[in-house]
Amino acid sequence: MKIPLITEIQRFCLQDGPGIRSTIFIKGCPLHCPWCHNPETQHTEKEFYYHSDKCVHCGKCVEVCPSGASTMETSADGKPVLNINRSKCAGCVNMSCIEACPTGAREAVGQQLEFDAIIKEVISDRPFYKNSGGGVTISGGDPLLFPKFTLEIAKKLKEEQIHVGIETSCFAKWEKIQPLLPYVGMFLVDIKSLDPIKHKETVGWPLEPILSNIQKLLESGANVRIHLPIIPGFNDTNKDFEAYVEFLRQFVEYNIHGVDALPYHVYGESKYRFLGRHDEYQFKNVKNMPAGNLKPLVQALKAAGIKKITIGGMVGMGGDKQKK
Ligand code: SF4
Ligand code: SF4
Repeated sequence: MKIPLITEIQRFCLQDGPGIRSTIFIKGCPLHCPWCHNPETQHTEKEFYYHSDKCVHCGKCVEVCPSGASTMETSADGKPVLNINRSKCAGCVNMSCIEACPTGAREAVGQQLEFDAIIKEVISDRPFYKNSGGGVTISGGDPLLFPKFTLEIAKKLKEEQIHVGIETSCFAKWEKIQPLLPYVGMFLVDIKSLDPIKHKETVGWPLEPILSNIQKLLESGANVRIHLPIIPGFNDTNKDFEAYVEFLRQFVEYNIHGVDALPYHVYGESKYRFLGRHDEYQFKNVKNMPAGNLKPLVQALKAAGIKKITIGGMVGMGGDKQKK
């Protein structure tokens, strides 16, 4: 079984499912949404953050790098400058530069943990889950990129009587999703757009399998909560809102647990910079979307009979969801 790299196991989460939860962020996602707030979870390979404000230009990382990915140069005004050429970085096994850095200016993104260590870590908060009706959410990235691992984690946690949530785009073969049904208490599914052309062009993969999987989940009696990330200039028009309402209206009688309308926020931008990928971030001058912009969508969903709708996540109206 391939165990993905884990970027973080975040404790005391309140927005990734019911109650107090621990969220396992796995590294790797099939989609490439240009607004992604967790770019460190997009690629399956190890990466590192470079925090320039902590760098003292000691050159230790340059000395240990086997690929010549870092060089120390001098600026026009005589100051030392560290250049990092990520295309040369082989993400060497031990990431020697991180070990060598005395100030924490380099930080590894993605840890290879043992299966048992992951389980041990998340079950340590069992009393909090029990008292709050919470549990563990597997997020990312997308857990369905590693279906065997996700299934084994879900099985083990179910055995431990811990509620399991999965946060996913649902872009996977149904055969990878179906085995999860007995073990997963809630599927938190993102729908990026209901326009098939826009979806394919922007996130790189077709919409149809996602909608078909959502339908199958609901028809199977799974508990599904829908996430609608609303992105300026991509899916924030009345036409987009109407499409969401019409699509979700047909599932009112099913086990749809609710809908979270998630306004775009800028919190992910600094991560692109730390990863040396700021050039690819297309939302540089875009501001946080006011929660009020989503009120027409919420009202229309309510009128269609959908219950338990939030703006910003499950903890309630008005807050901003930090992840995804
Ligand atoms: S991870 Fe390895 S190859 Fe990449 S910059 Fe650091 S030392 Fe060099
Ligand atoms: S080892 Fe750390 S502090 Fe020294 S030059 Fe490299 S990144 Fe900067």
